[in-house]
Amino acid sequence: MIIVLKANATKKQVDHVVEKIKALGLKAMVSRGVERTIIGVIGPEDALRVQPLEVFPGVEKVLPVLKPYKLVSREFKPEGSVIDVGGVKIGGKGLVLMAGPCSVEGRQMLMTTAKAVKQAGAQVLRGGAFKPRTSPYSFQGLGEEGLKYLRDVGQATGMKVVTELMDVRHIALVEKYADIVQIGARNMQNFELLKEAGQSQKPVLLKRGLSATITEFLLAAEYIVSQGNFNVILCERGIRSFEEQTRFTLDLAAVPVIKKLSHLPIIVDPSHGTGLWDYVEPMAKAAVAAGADGLMIEVHPNPETALSDGPQSLLPERFAGLVREVRKVAKSVGRTL
Ligand code: PEP
Ligand code: MN
Repeated sequence: MIIVLKANATKKQVDHVVEKIKALGLKAMVSRGVERTIIGVIGPEDALRVQPLEVFPGVEKVLPVLKPYKLVSREFKPEGSVIDVGGVKIGGKGLVLMAGPCSVEGRQMLMTTAKAVKQAGAQVLRGGAFKPRTSPYSFQGLGEEGLKYLRDVGQATGMKVVTELMDVRHIALVEKYADIVQIGARNMQNFELLKEAGQSQKPVLLKRGLSATITEFLLAAEYIVSQGNFNVILCERGIRSFEEQTRFTLDLAAVPVIKKLSHLPIIVDPSHGTGLWDYVEPMAKAAVAAGADGLMIEVHPNPETALSDGPQSLLPERFAGLVREVRKVAKSVGRTL
């Protein structure tokens, strides 16, 4: 259930409604928007039947939420969320570009890549230190050593950094070095990890599961938000289908669908979504045209020798070319880059 307050409701009136909800044994989550305040009620709503909140001063209307997710729903925050990562705003008019290697392989390669992607227009450096690999014999990432390189290179180049958290036991470690904590596709329904990330002070980048429906994706985000962390950025990265020409099937329709259903920002990862570098630019352009709030792109100084995802990684100069092309699309849909 969602309680919409009147535009002129006072703080005292809002607090009074919150107290009442709590007294009924329910949880109240307050969203203070530019226009008005909205309160999400979590818990068995039957309790509210004996206490009609419509009559409370300051309350405009009480809406039942028929969807299974509440706090991430558009109804809860009609104007949309803008997430501020130390000055980098995600979800506003400006697009965010996250770029970097699939895996952090060493300090030098990370520095070379970071300087190039920053120069081209990226604001966030990506790179995995804990890698979810299909084979246990593949490169698993440098662990804390990789996190240190990421933080150092991020600071040296003036970029924010995003890296994947795979295990609840590593949360404090990853939070220490990262500006954004990534939860990968394979962990989208690792509910303990989601709950832990919901307790974090850091923004979370949540990638869509390999075979997750949009409802399951939004419910995974609801796990994080219901723990109090509203700073969630969604990422469409392709889903499994019968098609074999591309590594995954990039579901760009998910972008306008999620924009309609949720207030959370959504970015697109055309690197994992296609699996092949020459499809990355067209799908990046299409993603921005579809309304994505940004892109996550894999870039490697020498894709042939990459320890993971070489075939989908762009050379730095190709990334710069992609940004030039994406800029034109951004302008045509009223976004800035
Ligand atoms: C990644 O971004 O490094 C990654 C492993 O992506 P995904 O979880 O989408 O496969
Ligand atoms: Mn990768």
